[in-house]
Amino acid sequence: MALGTRGSLKRMQSGAHNARQLVRDAAERLARVGVPEPVASAEVLLAELLGVRRSELAIREEPLTVEQGALYGAWISHRLNREPVQRILGYAYFRNLRLDLDEHTLIPRPDTESVVDAALEAVDRRGAFGLENNPTPGSEAACRVLDLGTGSGAIAVSVAQERPHCEIHATDHSEGALKVARRNVAREGVTVRFHKANLASGLDFLSGSVDVLVSNPPYVRSANIPKLVPEVRDWDPRAALDGGPDGLDFYRRIFLEATPLLEDGADVVLEVGDGRADEVLELGRRAGYEPLGTRPDLTGTPRAVLLRLGS
Ligand code: GLN
Repeated sequence: MALGTRGSLKRMQSGAHNARQLVRDAAERLARVGVPEPVASAEVLLAELLGVRRSELAIREEPLTVEQGALYGAWISHRLNREPVQRILGYAYFRNLRLDLDEHTLIPRPDTESVVDAALEAVDRRGAFGLENNPTPGSEAACRVLDLGTGSGAIAVSVAQERPHCEIHATDHSEGALKVARRNVAREGVTVRFHKANLASGLDFLSGSVDVLVSNPPYVRSANIPKLVPEVRDWDPRAALDGGPDGLDFYRRIFLEATPLLEDGADVVLEVGDGRADEVLELGRRAGYEPLGTRPDLTGTPRAVLLRLGS
């Protein structure tokens, strides 16, 4: 037998397929049961499994190993069960980061990347960006940022990585989430000070000193949770979604409980649900904040509200 044909014969005998065929079959199975974006799911899972770019799958001829094929089959079964791709992988890409996640954390979403942009602008507006303002060790940080309900640490780790002169504090109520966030910080080699807290409880040592407050709080109305897509409803931690009867419980609590931690003139950047920006700005106004406006996400929907303490 000619050397070149031995591989393909073996492949036929073992039923091994190349990436293109596998993705096509998987996408068809996902589509048949109504899984959203079946091609994207099938491609991303295989690209991550093989450690290649999505665009390389189409030109990859070699078959998967038996182990790779078995793992891909298992991952597709998870996706058939509406488990989100990022949960199957155990990580998500967010800005410059690859963040671990687990059942204790929300999946970091592209929406929240624009909230980070707004927070970074608030940091930069304070004039603390630049070498001349870098704090020397032991001195006051040029900018102190607090992220409430950090989850996987997406916001806190991004700010720490992109504005290393800031001192970043982050809280979460969930010990499990803090464990994941600590791992994400360690991998990036940045520093975030984590505090297990019920929102802003026990942070009195920060009293009057926070320059920028940022948060992506739970904001889904309790009654709407059963109506969410299964990927969110069945897989994101309920505590990270449930914003109470009108979805605004955490904004009220933030304005009440976190205000004493802020310096006068501090900037506040809060992620909001679709169509909720005006209500949150109004809550802030009544709590003594000056509403500064909103910032859209990638789809053009206002996703962050911006406020300043005092006037
Ligand atoms: N973005 C999530 C959703 O609407 C909610 C996240 C949150 O409550 N902060 O599906």
